[in-house]
Amino acid sequence: MSELPVAELDDPSSLGPVPVVAVVGRPNVGKSTLVNRIIGRRQAVVEDVPGVTRDRVPYDAQWNGRRFTVVDTGGWEPDAKDRAAAIAAQAEIAVQTADVVVFVVDVTVGATDVDEAAVRMLRRSHKPVILVANKADNQNLELEAVSLWSLGLGEPHTISALHGRGSGDLLDDILSNLPAPPPILEDGPRGPRRVALVGRPNVGKSSLLNRVSKEERAVVDSVAGTTVDPVDSLVEMDGDIWQFVDTAGLRKRVNQASGTEYYASLRTAGAVEAAEVAVVLLDAGEVISEQDQRVLTQVVEAGRALVIAFNKWDLVDADRRFYLDKEIDRELKRIPWAIRVNISAKTGRAVDKLAPAIRRALASWEQRIPTGALNQWLTELTQATPHPVRGGRAPRILFATQAGIAPPRFVLFTTGPLDAGYQRFVERKLREEFGFEGSPIEISVKPRK
Ligand code: GDP
Ligand code: GDP
Repeated sequence: MSELPVAELDDPSSLGPVPVVAVVGRPNVGKSTLVNRIIGRRQAVVEDVPGVTRDRVPYDAQWNGRRFTVVDTGGWEPDAKDRAAAIAAQAEIAVQTADVVVFVVDVTVGATDVDEAAVRMLRRSHKPVILVANKADNQNLELEAVSLWSLGLGEPHTISALHGRGSGDLLDDILSNLPAPPPILEDGPRGPRRVALVGRPNVGKSSLLNRVSKEERAVVDSVAGTTVDPVDSLVEMDGDIWQFVDTAGLRKRVNQASGTEYYASLRTAGAVEAAEVAVVLLDAGEVISEQDQRVLTQVVEAGRALVIAFNKWDLVDADRRFYLDKEIDRELKRIPWAIRVNISAKTGRAVDKLAPAIRRALASWEQRIPTGALNQWLTELTQATPHPVRGGRAPRILFATQAGIAPPRFVLFTTGPLDAGYQRFVERKLREEFGFEGSPIEISVKPRK
């Protein structure tokens, strides 16, 4: 007999897409009871949210260190009418969007015609199906389950969702049917956060590096347990050690000697790729140029956290300030979420703002929104502002999951492709609700086929 421990949620070390498990079956076979057992009844509050009915409710779950989303569906019935038909359709959608399907049958009733119809629907989906014989509260009922082999789904897993019997083995089997897990990150304290200092020639990158190495405590050579590339610099800043990547070139200034823009951009790409967060320096005394824009684009496209440092702030007077504000509105409007600091590498002005800004950007970069909260928000949003009707039809967003972090990636499961404008609207609202200041986010749409 296995009792489930309370699920540990929000494990930040689990990167990669979160697989989806759909629980389907006739009404009253015990699907909700099973789902509640899987999630440890921690998020059942979602059921009380208007609009998020039991039709298709996703929950976060975790078993043996593996995170997944479990979708509770209403009872599936063929030939259902009205509301029951809608619920059945929702269950089919859940099957289509799932990685694994758990098909629940009531062992005290045995396989019915409806169960057999459900099996045909499941076969069409080509998804891995795990057959569960629920309500096997005792050994006699466990024996009854033998008859369920006739469904052609292999060995039935006898469980009692109500009492917990057999549910641990079931979870092990669910896990073994999920797509391969992402590589496990090393345990223990991780090395210093990796920062790229980038920007066009002469914006003050090497001056800033010198400033932080001098002002904060001197560059350290090694940190226990980490290997640092010789071209990188370790700098202590605001109580933490940071790894500034690919700084050898900055110090030697070779990039400018041989400095075509092509090589500068290659260097930038390499540094950004190696880093978790990029500090893009802009010369506050000069107009934001196309070359500056290209550096910003490189960072956003690489999916790195972003801090914009307006350097040479000592040269900014009231007049320049006025024009700079207008330039920022115009030139940086595609990245309103970037964190900005106004510094002077020369005088040291506000250089102490850099580390807190970088930390904030990294926190956003690794932020994970629980599935329940995400879908609760999404339901409210799509009810208040549905997708505009196109050609008599409006695609609906069925549910969303956060597929990963660093940067945060979201998948919207929909009934059809979304307008680019509506997708931007969803992204803007997502940021309004959950922040993500200093980090790009990715939203992809998975229309139901
Ligand atoms: P759903 O409609 O498939 O979601 O079914 P529910 O989870 O709402 O369960 C329907 C009924 O079956 C409820 O009264 C549950 O308490 C009961 N039930 C669920 N699992 C078991 C079980 O393992 N054993 C017994 N005896 N009853 C169960
Ligand atoms: P890099 O090419 O981006 O590494 O830029 P450098 O650090 O070599 O700086 C280019 C020039 O800008 C040098 O002459 C610096 O002294 C000057 N500079 C750097 N930071 C500042 C600053 O905050 N204010 C002023 N006025 N000049 C700066």
